[in-house]
Amino acid sequence: MSNITIQAPAAVASKRSTREWQQADSAHFLHPFTDFASLAKKGSRIITRAEGIYLWDSEGKKILDAMSGLWCVNVGYGQQALIDAATRQMKELPFYNAFFQTATPPAIELAELLAQVSPPQFQHVFYSSSGSESNDTIVRMVRRYWDILGQPERQVIIGRQNGYHGSTMAGASLGGMSGMHAQGGLPIPNIVHIDQPYWFENGKGMDPAEFGKVAAGWLEAKILEVGPEKVAAFIGEPVQGAGGVIVPPSTYWPEIQRICDQYGILLVSDEVICGFGRTGRWFGCETMGTKPDLMTFAKGVTSGYVPLGGVMVGDRVAKVLIEQGGDFNHGYTYSGHPVACAVAIANIKLIQQLKLVEHVREDVGPYLAQQFATLRDHPLVGSTETCGLMGAILLVKDKAKGETFAGELEVGMVCRGHCFGNGLIMRAVGDRMIIAPPLVITRAQVDEMMALIRRCLDLTLADVHAKGWL
Ligand SMILES: *Cc1c(COP(=O)(O)O)cnc(C)c1O
Repeated sequence: MSNITIQAPAAVASKRSTREWQQADSAHFLHPFTDFASLAKKGSRIITRAEGIYLWDSEGKKILDAMSGLWCVNVGYGQQALIDAATRQMKELPFYNAFFQTATPPAIELAELLAQVSPPQFQHVFYSSSGSESNDTIVRMVRRYWDILGQPERQVIIGRQNGYHGSTMAGASLGGMSGMHAQGGLPIPNIVHIDQPYWFENGKGMDPAEFGKVAAGWLEAKILEVGPEKVAAFIGEPVQGAGGVIVPPSTYWPEIQRICDQYGILLVSDEVICGFGRTGRWFGCETMGTKPDLMTFAKGVTSGYVPLGGVMVGDRVAKVLIEQGGDFNHGYTYSGHPVACAVAIANIKLIQQLKLVEHVREDVGPYLAQQFATLRDHPLVGSTETCGLMGAILLVKDKAKGETFAGELEVGMVCRGHCFGNGLIMRAVGDRMIIAPPLVITRAQVDEMMALIRRCLDLTLADVHAKGWL
């Protein structure tokens, strides 16, 4: 049998009713970060197709996707260049590994392209398939770095409470999500956390610029507590995404950089959300004014069309690994997957052709900031903030006093329900309503999104009154 070909089945997922999909879903599919029993009762919403910044569900309802899937569909849905790149590569060479002293053209070409769009200290990449895996690589790589330099006692990595770095053992440990640490014996040893630079929770009464320095100072305090000779690295997201789009004061990151430099500690920027244009620069560290030693990326590198992630390795670390390191005993089957890399190349070239980074920085980003600020006159809105195309709206009980609703009321979830019902995907993190729309969004589409947001805030306010919460 020299040529076994398999007939493609007709459309894989075509003709079932919503109810049939939901039944099969709850019978067999355990969803991530989900209360399985409660979802089975409600039934999932079945998303069947997408175009641009819009999704359609199995009922034919059109939805404006203000979350870019899950922070990843930067170029929007339906981009033919990405589809063609995947198709072409699948036909030519769907897979080959990079373990056996081998490489494939897409993996090499993408490495070159990543070095071009990254800050100048980054000339090397280590590939993975997700943000979580990339942060696992970080733990292995920074500890290996200090090992090679003869300082194996430098094991401790400092992260932040309410930071998010993924869901594998190391990713979840680096992150500071209490709900995740409560399950499965996390964090793993030698990972510690400082508090987040969230002014509303930790800085009230302080000038934000002053607060930024105070919050960065918590890093220095932690370094001194642990012992500077034991600290390997600090990791943070330029803007916390999953934690609720928490934009730190502009004084925060430069002070973090100063402290890392002072103690010789590696600075790791988790760019899984902020990378590839989200903040109006190629990477969030450029917006925040830091010069990290390592950057993790995923999500936007392929606009989510296929899974890919990786670590950009700065010269300081690369030089040691390459010149003194010998074998680095770490890697994934899909490190440098040719199809994923081919899609990433097409994605990055499209971001360049469409000038999406400039579009965010000079056009829709400032426009979104201006529009979000107008929401502050709404009775439920305590504050708004944006950074590039990330935005957050804090729902409060009393604007004047800055008093929030009791957590158990889940006002954010009430608002999210109205968004779902009205054709808008906006996520709730506690009572922070957050968005991160595709970078291709136009001003007219921002207007359309703002009208939906206002309508949903009004509906939420009506509910809050009806329930007697105000
Ligand atoms: C999503 C995310 C991750 C994890 O990425 P996965 O691809 O889900 O493993 C890591 N860091 C940040 C900042 C993220 O937003």
